Amino acid sequence: MIPAPFSYRRAASVDEALAVLTEHGDDAKLLAGGHSLLPLMKLRLAAPELLVDISPIDELRYVRTDGDDVVIGAMSRYHDLQGDSVLREHAPLLAHVSGVVGDQQVRHRGTIGGSIAHADAAADLPAAVLACDGVLVARGPKGERRIPAAEFFVGPFTTSLEPDELLTEIRVRKQDGTGWGFEKFTRRAIDWAIVGVAVAGGSVALINMAGTPIRATATEEALAGGASNAEAARLAAEGTNPPDEAHASSRYRQHLAKVLAERALVQAATRG
Ligand SMILES: Cc1cc2nc3c(=O)[nH]c(=O)nc-3n(C[C@H](O)[C@H](O)[C@H](O)COP(=O)(O)OP(=O)(O)OC[C@H]3O[C@@H](n4cnc5c(N)ncnc54)[C@H](O)[C@@H]3O)c2cc1C
Repeated sequence: MIPAPFSYRRAASVDEALAVLTEHGDDAKLLAGGHSLLPLMKLRLAAPELLVDISPIDELRYVRTDGDDVVIGAMSRYHDLQGDSVLREHAPLLAHVSGVVGDQQVRHRGTIGGSIAHADAAADLPAAVLACDGVLVARGPKGERRIPAAEFFVGPFTTSLEPDELLTEIRVRKQDGTGWGFEKFTRRAIDWAIVGVAVAGGSVALINMAGTPIRATATEEALAGGASNAEAARLAAEGTNPPDEAHASSRYRQHLAKVLAERALVQAATRG
């Protein structure tokens, strides 16, 4: 449980962090809340030579509106987001989900940007952002680019971010009046989801049903065609093939996806 030796730098600004990433390339790794990276380092599944601590970058800690969008700085912590009045008003799904990640300790250190960049298919925020058709903003030496969530998550723990890019913000359309729901099934309260479902209007995203968060497209199409919540939810596992794992077989996970989808859709019908 002791990480391999590494060097440590604190970055006080986005520009400073980018300069260090450009100088050190693949040898450097950003450290945000550390709640995914440090456990990996202790297990020696990650052994970066240099950790670039971006937690002092206050310029990336905000929630604000920008025209039709709500914009969240990547270094915003779950604890800040769950109670943020702007987020609760314009993107209540994201505020709610921030409040059910891990436990108090995790929510006080973990960041939305860290969760999205880490791209664990069992994580909550990536699926919630996908359900909201979010856009991820990255900055690197070539400037800024905006990546739709549907193109951002490319594989297990893999995103379309370049090694010298930093995720700076998460943008979603204001969800005013949009029904939303969220359900996750866990073994213990603080565990990652065995399966979860996020609903934003007619969009339905699944947690831990594939190597990335995915949309339940058959359910979405059925809803758009006028199916009832129950009918549409029965299609939630269509096209999925989640592997058996210690706490749930593949078939059980598919069953959970349908049950949780119906519950989340029923919630969404009463909210917004
Ligand atoms: C006990 C425990 C329970 C947990 N339960 C849950 C849960 O129920 N649901 C859930 O979703 N998550 C859960 N988590 C994970 C938690 O949400 C992490 O905080 C999150 O996955 C990573 O965020 P972080 O800020 O800690 O990132 P870090 O661990 O610091 O970084 C994670 C990765 O992202 C990269 N990175 C970080 N920020 C950026 C950035 N701005 N730009 C580019 N790359 C970046 C890092 O280089 C690293 O590779 C749990 C963690 C623990 C320890």
